[in-house]
Amino acid sequence: MSKLEGKVALVSGGGRGIGRALCLKLASEGARVVVNDMDADPAAEVIEKIAASGGEAVACVGSVTANGFAEQFIGTALDRFGTLDIIVNNAGYTDDAVIHKMRDDQFDAMIEVHVKAPFRILRAASHHIRERAKAEAEQGIEVFRKVVNISSISGTGGNAGQANYSAAKSALHGMTRTLAKEWGRYKVNVNCVAFGYILTRLSEGVDEKQTINVDGREVRIGVPRQQAEMAPNFIPLGRPGTPEEGADGVYLLCSPESNYISGQLLVVGGGLTG
Ligand code: NAD
Repeated sequence: MSKLEGKVALVSGGGRGIGRALCLKLASEGARVVVNDMDADPAAEVIEKIAASGGEAVACVGSVTANGFAEQFIGTALDRFGTLDIIVNNAGYTDDAVIHKMRDDQFDAMIEVHVKAPFRILRAASHHIRERAKAEAEQGIEVFRKVVNISSISGTGGNAGQANYSAAKSALHGMTRTLAKEWGRYKVNVNCVAFGYILTRLSEGVDEKQTINVDGREVRIGVPRQQAEMAPNFIPLGRPGTPEEGADGVYLLCSPESNYISGQLLVVGGGLTG
């Protein structure tokens, strides 16, 4: 039997990069998946791919920072699949500047997407989780649910130019440790994965400035090619990780093998620790 047969997983930012690879991995292990992304087309492509492999998935398109989004995300899982078992707070991006050039809106945006949105999503899920856990306790059974919050070695070790992003990712780690204590009684494993250098559009080498529009703001993506080419020199395993390797690290904390692991930070960085 597949490891996640019967489970329902929610992945934010599941249309591209690590989130996309994770949606496909969870579905390949039997989970039904709610795929969020702020962009509809990549989310639809992931759902088609899952369906083509015999799995089941549904989209929940929208920005995780929008008012009411958290209730919509949780509601999609409950309306379509009747339950929820795994929540991965993955949606995110960077918006770098050295501190003397960083605007308030740049700082606030990182807190909104990496801290406040996961907080609202987990708060929206709490009623269902508590009710289910109480019912399961009365039946004398243990059902483990999983939360994985996606952080970064910028949050654990700092990174020049990322006062906003590193503060937000570090705060997400703090929230993880607190929720592990609050939700242990409900049998929820709450953990954090901090990525090192995983090759996605956020981190790939670019020759010219490239931007995306997030919540009405133009945000730069990619890193200067010369900087990207230096990566193998400082990663102990000698290269950046693939999105699939990144997703595998998250999957470990979604699988039954992590049932007695909670409140932990797993660095998935090929030996790079920050
Ligand atoms: P990516 O850009 O390839 O994928 C991120 C996805 O999230 C995109 O499809 C994007 O549309 C979506 N998204 C962004 N903001 C959103 C929002 N407000 N609402 C809904 N969807 C939104 O990036 P990735 O590298 O796969 O990043 C995934 C996560 O991993 C992020 O939280 C990022 O900070 C973290 N991370 C990545 C690296 C890396 O090296 N790639 C390193 C450390 C941490």
